[in-house]
Amino acid sequence: MEIQIPEGAEVIIRELNNHGFDAYVVGGCVRDSILGKKPDDWDITTSAKPLSIKKIFKRTIDTGIKHGTVTVLRNKNRYEVTTYRIDGEYEDNRHPKDVIFTTDLAGDLKRRDFTINAMAYNPQRGLIDAFGGMEDLKNRIIRCVGSPEERFSEDALRILRAVRFSAQLGFVIENDTQSAIRKLAPNLVNISAERIQAELVKLLCSQNPHFFKQAYELGITKVILPEFDDMMITPREFPYHTDKIGEHALHSLQFIKPEKIGRLSMLLHDVGKPAVRGADAKGKNSFIGYGERGEVIVKGILKRLKFDNDTVYKVSKIIRWHDYPFLLSERGIRRGIYEVGEDIFPYLFRIKRADIEAQNDEKKEERKICLERAENLYKDVIRKNQCVSLKTLHITGNDLIELGIGPGKEIGILLKYLLETVIDNTEYNKKEILLTIAKNRLEKI
Ligand code: ATP
Ligand code: MG
Repeated sequence: MEIQIPEGAEVIIRELNNHGFDAYVVGGCVRDSILGKKPDDWDITTSAKPLSIKKIFKRTIDTGIKHGTVTVLRNKNRYEVTTYRIDGEYEDNRHPKDVIFTTDLAGDLKRRDFTINAMAYNPQRGLIDAFGGMEDLKNRIIRCVGSPEERFSEDALRILRAVRFSAQLGFVIENDTQSAIRKLAPNLVNISAERIQAELVKLLCSQNPHFFKQAYELGITKVILPEFDDMMITPREFPYHTDKIGEHALHSLQFIKPEKIGRLSMLLHDVGKPAVRGADAKGKNSFIGYGERGEVIVKGILKRLKFDNDTVYKVSKIIRWHDYPFLLSERGIRRGIYEVGEDIFPYLFRIKRADIEAQNDEKKEERKICLERAENLYKDVIRKNQCVSLKTLHITGNDLIELGIGPGKEIGILLKYLLETVIDNTEYNKKEILLTIAKNRLEKI
C-alpha cells in the first residue's frame, strides 16, 4: 500500500528521522487517502517530545504543548505534529485528565476512536494497521478500536462521532459498536455543547444527512435533541398520512445544499408542529401557529447547543417564515420582503424548494411552478431596485422634521406609513410625492 503524501509532510517526517525519531502521518488523512479522497489536513504522530520538535523546526506554533501538539509551518502549509501518547484516566466520560507520552506507536494508535482512524503511514515502513482498519474501510464499517463500551465510557463524544463518520462515509456502524452506543448514549449529557455542536454540523452537512436518523434510533437525540424525538412520533396529517413529521424532515435534508444554515433549518423546519398540533372539524391535523412556536423552540435548541448568534437568528427566522404564502405579483413579493425581512426572504426559496421536493402528493408540481414564479418575481424586484425598506425610500426623517413634525415616535410611524404606501405603489417613491402624502396624512390626524 503506497500513499501519496504532500512534500511538506514528507520533509517533516524525514527531518524527525534524521534526528533519531520515528514519525508517521496518521488518522483522518490516511483514511481519506486510502478512500481516494483529498484529506483536509495531514496530521503527523512522532516519538519526539514537543521540545525536540520545536528545536528541529524553525517555524512552529505551540498549539497544545500539554497534549503534545506542535504546529509546524512549511511553505504555506501547517502540519500538526503530536507526540505519541496514551490517554491518562478519563473523568466524567470526556477528555482524559492528563496525557502520558510514550515512545510506542502502537500505544498511540490504540487510543484512537475507530479502526479506520487508527492507521499510520510513512514511506519507509508503509501502512501500519494494527486493528483491521483496512478491512473495515473495504467493508465500509465503523468499528471501535477495542471494546466499544470502554471506548465510549472514556469519551462519550465518540458516540456522536460514530454516527458522523457513518454519514460522511456512508458506512454502517458495526453491531457491537451500535449496542454500546444504545447503552451509553445517556453519557452524552457530560459532553460540552461546543463539541456536540461541531459533530452535529458535520453530520448534517455530510453526503448522507438522512443518516441523522441513526442518532434517533440509537437514543442519541433523546439526550441532545429531544425536540427531534417529538417530531418522530408526530404524524403529519393524521388520519390521512401516517408518516411522521421527523421522517419528512430527514427526507428534505438531501434537497438543500450542504451548509449549516440550510441543513439546520430543514431538520427543524416543522419543530413547532408537535407542540401546536390540534384537529380541525373533519378530524384532520391542524398546526396553527407552528411557525411562531417553531421559532421559539429553535432559539432554545440552538442557544443550548451554543450556536453563534448569526446562526440562531437566521435559522429561527427562517423557521418562523418558511411557510410564508407568496403572493404572485411584484407587489406581493415586495410585501413579503418587507414582512419577512430582506436578509431572510431569499433563504425561503431554497427552504421551500427542499420542503416541496420531500413532499409526495399530487400538488407537488403545481407548488414547484408557483415557487419558481415567486423567485422570478423576486429577481425582478431586486433587479429593478424597487423600494422594500427605509434604505431606498426617497424621504428621510430629516425631511419630515423640516415639515414641522417633532422628532420622536411620530416620525417613525409616518415613515412606516410612507414605506408601506411605496411598497404598494412603487411610482410614489419620489420625494415631492412622499412629502405631499405626508402632509395629507398629517392633516387627517
Ligand atoms: P476530519 O478532520 O475529516 O473530520 P479526522 O479523522 O481527521 O476527520 P479529527 O477530529 O480531526 O478527525 O481527529 C483526528 C484523529 O484523531 C482521528 O482520526 C482519530 O484518530 C483521533 N481522534 C479524534 N478525536 C478523537 C476522540 N474523541 N477519541 C479518540 N480518538 C480521536
Ligand atoms: Mg482532522
